[in-house]
This record gives sequence, C-alpha cells and structure tokens, in this order.
Amino acid sequence: MIQTTDNALSVDHVQQGIVYKKTLGKYYVRANDRVLISSISNKLRKQLVYPIADPSSLRRRVMEVKDIDEVDPVAVGDVVTFVDAGDGSGLITEIQPRKNKLSRPSLDGARRMKKSQPLEQVLVANIDQIVIVMPAANPAPSWDLLDRYLATAEAAHLPAVICLTKIDLMTGDDLTQEIEVYHQIDYPVIMTSAVTGENIDQVKAALKDRVSVLWGKSGVGKTSLLNAIQPGLGLRVKEVNAHNSEGRHATSHVEMFDFEFGGSVIDTPGQRKFKLWDDDITDFAQLLPEMRPFIGQCKFGVGCSHTREPGCAIKAAVAAGKISQRRYDSLLGMKEYFG
Ligand code: GDP
Ligand code: ZN
Repeated sequence: MIQTTDNALSVDHVQQGIVYKKTLGKYYVRANDRVLISSISNKLRKQLVYPIADPSSLRRRVMEVKDIDEVDPVAVGDVVTFVDAGDGSGLITEIQPRKNKLSRPSLDGARRMKKSQPLEQVLVANIDQIVIVMPAANPAPSWDLLDRYLATAEAAHLPAVICLTKIDLMTGDDLTQEIEVYHQIDYPVIMTSAVTGENIDQVKAALKDRVSVLWGKSGVGKTSLLNAIQPGLGLRVKEVNAHNSEGRHATSHVEMFDFEFGGSVIDTPGQRKFKLWDDDITDFAQLLPEMRPFIGQCKFGVGCSHTREPGCAIKAAVAAGKISQRRYDSLLGMKEYFG
C-alpha cells in the first residue's frame, strides 16, 4: 500500500507500463519485464469514472471496489503511467490516450450511478486486430454471425482476420463461394485445423507481433487452435474464461497472453454482449465495407433504408452481382440485432 500522496511523489518512480491483466480492483502492469500489482489513484478514479459532467458530479462518492467490476476506468491493454512503490506494487496515476477500444454497455453500472443511459465499460484497449474463429464444419459455419462479428470490428475501426477451423472435418462441402465473398472485401481468410496442423503457420504469421482479440462462440475450436499455436496456451486461456462464465462477473478478470514468437492474444468471453458503442452509425451499411461506396447514391440519399425504396443503389448493386445477396441479407438482419 502506498502511503504518499500524488503530489509528493518523486519523478524517479514514475514509469510507463501496459496493463496485461486485471482482477477486481487490481491491475497487473508490465514494465521492462517486471510486473507490478497496481491500484488506481483516487484522483484518477474521480477523473475517469464519470466522464459525463453533471451538477451533482462534484459531490459524488468515490467508487467503491465492488463498483469497479461494472465501470472500470482501466482496461487490459491500456498504457498507464504508474508510480513504483518499490515493493512490487504500483499506483496508476494516468492512462495514456487509447488508439482504440472494445466496450460493452454496463446497465448495472448505470443503475447504480442512477443514470438512464448505459455507461460504457471498456474491456480492452489498444488492439491491432480481431481474429474471428469460425468452424468450417461441426458445427457448420454461421455466416450471419461472422458478418455481425465483422461489423462489430468495423465499428471499432479494427481490422479482422477470419480463421476457419476444423477443415479436417469438411466432407465434400464446398465453401469456396462463401469464402470468395470475404476475399473480395479484402478480409483475410485462413483455413486451418488444430488436429492436422494445416496452415497453423499462416495463423501464427497473422498473429505475430500484434495484439489480437479472439472472438468465437464456445465449441468453435479456440482452445484447440491456441494449443496448436503454442502448447498449453489454450488451456491457460480457457481457465481464465471459466472464471468468467458467470455473466455479470465477466469483466472482473480479463487477461492478455503472450506468444513465444511475439505478439499477444486476449480472449473476450461474453462476446455476444458487445454492442456497437459508436453512436454515429445511422446506416449499418457503413459497417459493410463493400457497401460503403453506395451510401448516399440511393434515390432517397442517406435516408434510404435499402429495403423497399425505389432507386436503392445497394439493392441495384446486389442485382448487378457487385454485392453478395447473403451479405445484403446480413445487413437487413443487423438492424434488428444491433438495433
Ligand atoms: P472452444 O470452446 O472454442 O475453446 O473450442 P475447443 O477448442 O474446446 O473445441 C471444441 C471441440 O472441437 C473439441 O471437441 C475439439 O476437440 C474439437 N476441435 C477443435 N478444433 C478442431 C479441429 O481443427 N479439428 C477437429 N477435428 N476437431 C477440432
Ligand atoms: Zn438504399
């Protein structure tokens, strides 16, 4: 425990590090191959917890540790400035601006803070890419779900890589046409198998030296894939997730794991809870890159819902074979899903 105040700290002890793991109210900060189990300064917490100014905010109470589970100002992946107490612990005093983030709305947090709008819970920050794991077989791929994942990544301005796993189980099913749709949009697609090891080197190459977030429902083969990439890693990641499976505790433990060959991975369980945080999205076609050029070209301009309106440029592009019918169907489904 640090007994000093923020002002009395000597500059020598101030360092920067990355938060690679967090549990309730504790942040594991890595700096120069050292790990400091850190907490946040009260000053920083007050600055960050409720960024929305309101008149009562001056007298609001300091967050209690139990509340941090819901609205935590620090995310895994954050670059933080901290004060080294010299005993293995640290005090986080500043969070560096994030290049990006993945958030989910915290309704519980909003209720406790008596806000009508959900508060933003940032889960991870400073990510390089989303890696979507989707089985090629057993169970059959869910293209709708893939499109929702891709749209979520687009909303977060993050590149996505599609990993089709379990290709050893494909029995004559031809996915060439479906996969070609994604190639055309410039999404990388890697077809791989954790059992045969086919194209695992491609998966490694895609992960190397990047911070990746892994998405995929349970059973798709994430653990097996991670184990095939680096023996034992899948099991370590799975343990963290088991800890996470109780819904409202889902954010209390998030962890970033390193690859021996460079780069790291964060598995974010409860992915279906992600909602698009970007309020600016009025037309989901913005989240489907191949549809973007047609936005504004419809007869009804940006007001077009791309459903029944005459002169819809997107529907015309579907009819002309420039946009796949299935991706168009996904677009229509997104209104309901993200709505
Ligand atoms: P997770 O829930 O996403 O972590 O999925 P798991 O890695 O636990 O895999 C779910 C099931 O699919 C297990 O029975 C695995 O043995 C199986 N599985 C995973 N990857 C492959 C693969 O590439 N080929 C085959 N044949 N089975 C796989
Ligand atoms: Zn239209």
